[in-house]
Amino acid sequence: MRNLAVLGSTGSVGTQTLSIVEKYKDIFKVKALAADKNVNLLTQQVKKFNPNIVCVGNTQACLKFKNKVKNIKVVCGEEGLIKIAEAEDVDTILFAISGISGMGALKKGLEKGKRIAISTKELIVCFGEVLRDFKKRFKGEIVPVDSEHSAVFQCIHQRKKEEVKRIILTASGGPLLYKNTKDVKKEEVLKHPVWKMGIKTTIDSATMMNKCLEIIEAHYLFDIEPEKIDVLIHPQGLVHSMVEFIDGSIVAQLAVPDMRIPILYALSYPDRLSTEIHINFEKVPNLQFMLPDRKKFPALNLAYEVLSRKMTYPAVLAAADEEAVEMFIRDEISFEEIVNSVKECINAHTPLYPNEENIKKAVYWAKQYIREKRWCRY
Ligand code: MG
Repeated sequence: MRNLAVLGSTGSVGTQTLSIVEKYKDIFKVKALAADKNVNLLTQQVKKFNPNIVCVGNTQACLKFKNKVKNIKVVCGEEGLIKIAEAEDVDTILFAISGISGMGALKKGLEKGKRIAISTKELIVCFGEVLRDFKKRFKGEIVPVDSEHSAVFQCIHQRKKEEVKRIILTASGGPLLYKNTKDVKKEEVLKHPVWKMGIKTTIDSATMMNKCLEIIEAHYLFDIEPEKIDVLIHPQGLVHSMVEFIDGSIVAQLAVPDMRIPILYALSYPDRLSTEIHINFEKVPNLQFMLPDRKKFPALNLAYEVLSRKMTYPAVLAAADEEAVEMFIRDEISFEEIVNSVKECINAHTPLYPNEENIKKAVYWAKQYIREKRWCRY
C-alpha cells in the first residue's frame, strides 16, 4: 500500500494520476491533494478520494475553498505544500505543479525519506545544483515521471555509471517538425501530433525548449555529463529514450505514448503493475530516427550552453521560457521571439552562486527581464 500526495491534482498529469489511482484502489490511497486555483475540480476530487489534507496555492481560492469543505484540513500556498510533505501518513509525493513553488515541499519530502515522483521539470532544472547536495544529505528518493526520463531510469537501472556511453533522449519533433517556424500561428503550435499535454509543455515542444529542459533534467537526475546526452527525433513517439553502453549495446524503452505508463511506474517502482495499454506493432509501419535541425530549433543548443556555465544559468533559462511562453499565449510576442528572448536573457544574466535563495532571486530577475524587455521593443 502506498499513501500518496498528489500536488497539482487538477492539471494534466495530476488528473491522469488520479485516474490511475482509481484503478488500483487496494494499492494506492490518496492522503493529500494540492491545486493552485481550480477549486471546482478540486472539490470533486476531494469528494471522490477523501484525503486528510488539501492545499490550495492561490490565497483567495484557498479562503473560498476553506468555506466550501468541512471536516478536512485545508492549508494554503507554499507553506501548505510543506505541511503536506511532512505529513506522517504520506510516503509518496507526486510533483506535478508547474513553476518552482514546490521547492520547499520537495526538500522537506527528501528530508523525511519519502519518494518524490517528479513531473515538474522546472524544479530539477532550476534547483539541480542544490538537489545534488540534497541527494547526498537526505534519505528520500527521486523517481522521474517525465516519459523520457522514466525510460532512461528503466534502461540505466543497476548499471554502473562508467558503463554508460551516452543517453539518447528521443523527441517527437513537435507540431512544427515539417513546418516553417516563421510566422507560426498559435493554433498550429497547440496541435501536438503525439502527446496530450498541458499548454506550456505543448508550446515548449513546438520550440523544442521542452527537449532543452529535458537535457538539463537528465544531467541532474542521472549525473551524466552534458556531452554524453544526445537528442534524436523519433516522430512515432514509441521509443521514449535509450541508453547506449560502452560495449555498443543500446537499451531502449518502448510504450504507447500515454503518460499513465510513466506515472504508474514512478508510483509502483520497483514493481510493475498490469495495464491494458500495449503497442500493436503490426499497425506501426516503421520507426524513424533523425538528427534534430539545430538551426531551425536553436533552443537545443541553449541546454549545453547553460550546463557549461552552471551557476544560476539553468534557472534563468527555465524562468525566462516560462514567462516568454505566457507572453506568447497572450499574443504579446511572436513564436520566434520565445527562444530569442530566452537567449537574450541568458546573455544578460549576472550569475550567482547556486543556493536556494540565489536561485529564487535569479528566477525572479529572469521573469522581470523578459517582461520589461518588451517595453523597450514596442
Ligand atoms: Mg517529456
